[in-house]
Amino acid sequence: MEQIEMLWEFQQADMEADTLETEIKRSPNRLALKKNRDFLLEQQTAVRQIEEEVAQMLDRVDIIKDAILLQQEQLKALQARLEENPPANLEEAQAFAQDAQRLVGGIQSYEQEMRRIQQEAADHERAQKEITVKFSRVRAEYETQKIAYEDEYKEQMKALEDKRHAAQEKGKDIDPNLMERYQTIKKHCVPPVAKLVDGQCGGCYMGLPQVTLRNLKSGAKLIECESCGRMIIQL
Ligand SMILES: [Zn+2]
Repeated sequence: MEQIEMLWEFQQADMEADTLETEIKRSPNRLALKKNRDFLLEQQTAVRQIEEEVAQMLDRVDIIKDAILLQQEQLKALQARLEENPPANLEEAQAFAQDAQRLVGGIQSYEQEMRRIQQEAADHERAQKEITVKFSRVRAEYETQKIAYEDEYKEQMKALEDKRHAAQEKGKDIDPNLMERYQTIKKHCVPPVAKLVDGQCGGCYMGLPQVTLRNLKSGAKLIECESCGRMIIQL
């Protein structure tokens, strides 16, 4: 068989294998599996983020508790001073009152912040629980899908391997230079080989210059399409 004919038959087999590979990648079961896997990964990230935020909240709560204790102690000390040394005049009494007010106000605003954080932490915990429930449901689904898809995938890979092998067989006697040219064109033009159709390139359907056509008529087996770069053959 001539090189050009072998190349043409190789291309048929090569394209069939490529088509199957694309089909496998797009198979509904594979996509469903991928969708669930992506979802699980997203949820894991979300849970990690919640955990980090809750940890930060707990740290802040500890700081607030210490601050409240400190201000309570200061308040007690102030009261003790007041009992030991009652204010002698109105000015001193007002100063005491202001100090006490400041401490009480500080404690109140810390307590407010603590309540807000506790509320937020509770919200976070609820969100985390919801995620956990959804997560285990999707994971169970994912595991089942995965087992079901494993067999399908093995079959698909076997079929693809057969097609790749068939293409390889058809291509084994093709001149390596010609094969290299095929692979190079394939990177930007698929399929890389086209037949001559009514004086046009069978790939891009652009008319070929007369001089090129004359080359074909005078025995050239293979020419290049100036528009798309494909190899044009005449069988
Ligand atoms: Zn072309």
